Amino acid sequence: MDFVKELLEYVRHASVSTDPAFANGMNGAREKACDLLRRAGLEVEVVPTPLHPIILGRRKGPAEWPHVVLYGHYDVQPAEPLDLWTTPAFEPVVRDGRIWGRGTADNKGPHLVAIVALARLLARHPNLPLRITFLIEGEEEIGSPSFPAFLQAYKQELSEADCVILSDTASPSADQIAITTALRGIVGMEVRLVGPQFDLHSGLHGGAVYNPIQALAEICASLHLPDNTVAVEGFYEGVQQPAEWERAELRKLPLTEAQYLAFLGVDSLHPAPGLSGLEAVRFAPTLEFNGIGGGYQGKGSKTVIPSKVFAKITCRLVPGMNPEDILAKASAAIRARAPKGVKVEIEIKQGNAAYFVCPPGRPNTPKGQNPVLARAFAETECAITGAFGKPPIFVREGGSVPIIEDIRRETGLDSVMIGLFTPESNLHAPDENLDIGMAEKAIKAYESLLEGVAKGGRK
Ligand SMILES: [Zn+2]
Repeated sequence: MDFVKELLEYVRHASVSTDPAFANGMNGAREKACDLLRRAGLEVEVVPTPLHPIILGRRKGPAEWPHVVLYGHYDVQPAEPLDLWTTPAFEPVVRDGRIWGRGTADNKGPHLVAIVALARLLARHPNLPLRITFLIEGEEEIGSPSFPAFLQAYKQELSEADCVILSDTASPSADQIAITTALRGIVGMEVRLVGPQFDLHSGLHGGAVYNPIQALAEICASLHLPDNTVAVEGFYEGVQQPAEWERAELRKLPLTEAQYLAFLGVDSLHPAPGLSGLEAVRFAPTLEFNGIGGGYQGKGSKTVIPSKVFAKITCRLVPGMNPEDILAKASAAIRARAPKGVKVEIEIKQGNAAYFVCPPGRPNTPKGQNPVLARAFAETECAITGAFGKPPIFVREGGSVPIIEDIRRETGLDSVMIGLFTPESNLHAPDENLDIGMAEKAIKAYESLLEGVAKGGRK
């Protein structure tokens, strides 16, 4: 199975899950994925959902064989703005050692790496003692709405597996692979303040009423201390601090604080006490303002006191924090700080908890860790070192991949997350691309790690 040829074909199916106009592309990509799984030697089942079906590719076997779940998604982000692509998003090309096109890196290329590795491995070892459930969903880019019901329906089968291995996270560069050990959770809220029942003339009424913009600005400003600690009562309760080895691992990241400043275009960072900027992104929770509005936004001026204003807020969560608890605490703080004369409405956006998995052999590795999971980590480290000539780093990531925590909550399975795209891959942006050399090395690594997992048995 030729990686580049198959990826070019796969990417040509414009599988934009959010837009019904791309139904043909979704069908085409799904058929292509099924075909790839079959050719790799798996039995394929297509599970219907209310929206985009989920694909399952299975390799069955006796219960004493290790059972690994592999994950990917066949849907992609919209390609807009189209005029910023060097070559059309759904007419992929090879250029400068990379494949360019929407979905090359997120996530068709990375899960094709696993399929090609599996195909080559099973061709060499038709009797390999390894059970596989390869799960490819079609709604990842729209928040996986059908995934919870799917997990419920397939809970028994999935719970029986040993671990998940997937590639849908980042590495810092093509020669420094990162194994992601944690993902932050996220919750959100939209806060609306309503003052007078209509917009007021600021001359006729200014000075008599509490201006909702002033009230909102005061509330927002009160939610952090000057040192950038979140000033919501009980916000940090239960937060699990990173272990020392995690800080040491992060120091191996090939990115200095100076480079980070230059990348951001700011002259100073603002992490909470005790954290570097690079640590703050990964180790600490946040409360962020993502949007704020109200009053006159047009050209020139208009002397108005607005009736309604809003702020969009999200919190990134770290291990030990409970999403509902944080929503309750943040809402209570906002309500308590709203002055008389404005009404507060808070629309809650439920989210998900953070995820953390500890590799084996660390001081905080849980006792009784699944031996296949432990071996998957060890084999991954060994296989990446062999294929890339450099050991991987085990680091937390600041972003959120909700399904990873969903899978653990529903099935108990932990995930080994191998980063196969880099900052240059332009995820969700024009000129998305995948480094072919990196993918070829990753195929070798996947082949050898799956073989290693199989050969160790289930103990
Ligand atoms: Zn994505």
